Amino acid sequence: MNRVTELFNIDYPIVQGGMIWCAGWELASAVSNAGGLGIIGSGSMYPEVLRVHIEKCQLATDKPFAVNLPMLYPDIDKHIESIVEYGVPIVFTSAGNPKKYTEYLKSKGITVVHVVSSVKFAKKAEEAGVDAVVAEGFEAGGHNGRDETTSMVLIPSVAREVEIPVIAAGGIGSGAGMFAAMVLGADGVQMGSRFVASFEASAHQGFKNEVVKAKEGDTMLTLKEITPVRLIKNKFFLDLMKKYSEGASAEELKEHLGRGRAKKGMFEGDLDEGELEIGQVSGIIDDIKPVHVIVEEIMREFIETKESVLNVNSKFTF
Ligand code: NDP
Repeated sequence: MNRVTELFNIDYPIVQGGMIWCAGWELASAVSNAGGLGIIGSGSMYPEVLRVHIEKCQLATDKPFAVNLPMLYPDIDKHIESIVEYGVPIVFTSAGNPKKYTEYLKSKGITVVHVVSSVKFAKKAEEAGVDAVVAEGFEAGGHNGRDETTSMVLIPSVAREVEIPVIAAGGIGSGAGMFAAMVLGADGVQMGSRFVASFEASAHQGFKNEVVKAKEGDTMLTLKEITPVRLIKNKFFLDLMKKYSEGASAEELKEHLGRGRAKKGMFEGDLDEGELEIGQVSGIIDDIKPVHVIVEEIMREFIETKESVLNVNSKFTF
């Protein structure tokens, strides 16, 4: 038990990322059933679609699960109405000011966690009354902070500045990574990429295969002028680099991006023209497996790593 398992009433301090187009009810319920915290990624769901996912998730698990609410979402008030109506116990807010909804959500008895990429925003989130923060480092996939602070620096920086529990994200996809994050001061971890490469993720099989194929150096953060996002370097990404080299303005970049690229790439499997959002840790993800196997392996490796560090004959003895 620790502060994160107690806060969410779960077995292991493993939280799944609420990734758009990848994290529907099947993934969220599987992670919760495996002892972690599953999250429905509502950023890609129309309001009526989110309601169906919440209903199905409630049928598939009697364990707690959460909904991720990106504050950029156009119909956010409708999502919030559904969350309250269905009694979803936990909400992860991201990409916006936590002051806006925290008080209301908490008045409805909902546990609120906010995703941050800097100490400054972690402190603001704590002031706004959230129950925990996710400290998401530069390695993370999808939307990301502008300051490029890596998890190695962000986790201890946030952990020493806030009193509330810190959940580390960005670059974590194994039990050893989880142990490292917790040594640095985190109370738990959030993993996105690792769970994209699962049977239960709603992502297109072609995208899952690309995640497995990706090696170190195959992703990059781009589009800082619009909304920073880490992508696999596919044709769309290379075309974008060409636009940059031609001196394209933010307006021209936006036009090139168009609408619905994330859906095209991650959900429809257009590997050339779609956005393929994934973290750097994809470089060490080599297989697609069921969620319960992922969680079991992570916990086994976490315990083995802990024991190897404590073992007097280990490489740590000097
Ligand atoms: P775009 O503007 O390019 O496209 C909007 C997409 O969202 C479409 O594919 C659309 O589906 C879908 N959608 C779902 N609900 C609505 C709605 N109420 N109004 C309009 N479109 C809707 O945006 P992105 O695809 O880049 O991002 C969509 C959302 O996901 C944003 O809220 C963004 O903040 C979030 N996001 C979060 C990320 C993260 O890392 N946390 C990463 C990237 C995005 P359809 O094609 O069926 O119309």
